[in-house]
Amino acid sequence: MALQSGIFPAFAACYSWAMDSNIAAKLGLPALEKGWVWLVGAGPGDPGLITALGLQALAQADVILFDALVDETLLTLSDAEKIYAGKRAGVRSCKQDEISDLLVTLAKEGKRVLRLKGGDPFVFGRGGEEAQALARAGVNFRIVPGVTAGIGGLAYAGIPVTHRDTNHAVTFITGHGVDGKLTKMDWAAVSRGAPTLVLYMARRFAGEIAQELLAAGRKQDEPCAIVCNAARDNQQVIVTTLARLGAEAEAAEPLCIIVIGQNVMLAKELNWLASAS
Ligand code: SAH
Repeated sequence: MALQSGIFPAFAACYSWAMDSNIAAKLGLPALEKGWVWLVGAGPGDPGLITALGLQALAQADVILFDALVDETLLTLSDAEKIYAGKRAGVRSCKQDEISDLLVTLAKEGKRVLRLKGGDPFVFGRGGEEAQALARAGVNFRIVPGVTAGIGGLAYAGIPVTHRDTNHAVTFITGHGVDGKLTKMDWAAVSRGAPTLVLYMARRFAGEIAQELLAAGRKQDEPCAIVCNAARDNQQVIVTTLARLGAEAEAAEPLCIIVIGQNVMLAKELNWLASAS
């Protein structure tokens, strides 16, 4: 499956079409102005999932602060100065305060600043903290939502995040808290709540989470999926059960979304990506 390489030529053509044919004016898109910061969601992988506002920001920015999850193809579309502001093993991590301070400094220098983040900036992405820093410093900013991994990533695995026959509600959870340990929450209440649970940053604690849910009455054979590298070239979908979730997650790729619930059963029937070019 050559997902991005297949999409890229069409995407590049679409990008130039959007920028050249005054699409921005037709859509009434605001411009990224000097001294402003746009916090933009880049989507989970496939560069085609960025929004029109995001594309325009790429074209207009003077400087881009990007994180580790941002697709590199998107960055190649821009001549702006690029600053890595992510947290990745082997590369010096940027502290959250340093990133926020840099955003404020660059904006106050009169730059057009694009803060490009994986998925959606306001979903487990610390976009809220960065926006708070900007608000407190009196810097103008715009939030440009993106496709979050826990919805769009599942769609690329053929799993609708809600489905009438399986779940009328969904809970989004982060697997680990700020202290790096399993998120402290009332897992029994979570278990009794929405039928479908979508877990971000949960690979390390998948076994513990499964134990908590089983202890609270969820069934051993409840379907689960581990969607690794969703919407990327190397996407992999592992369908398993709650009883086996911990062991399967341990062996899975590090970048993954975990989904627990009967909607997982649709993955086989709705595996559209297998036939996409
Ligand atoms: N703001 C992002 C989430 C950042 S938290 C969003 O809205 O998607 C980082 C976690 O998101 C990862 O640990 C993983 O659980 C999930 N994630 C992000 N991109 C992913 C992808 N392409 N495939 C699978 N999981 C992904």
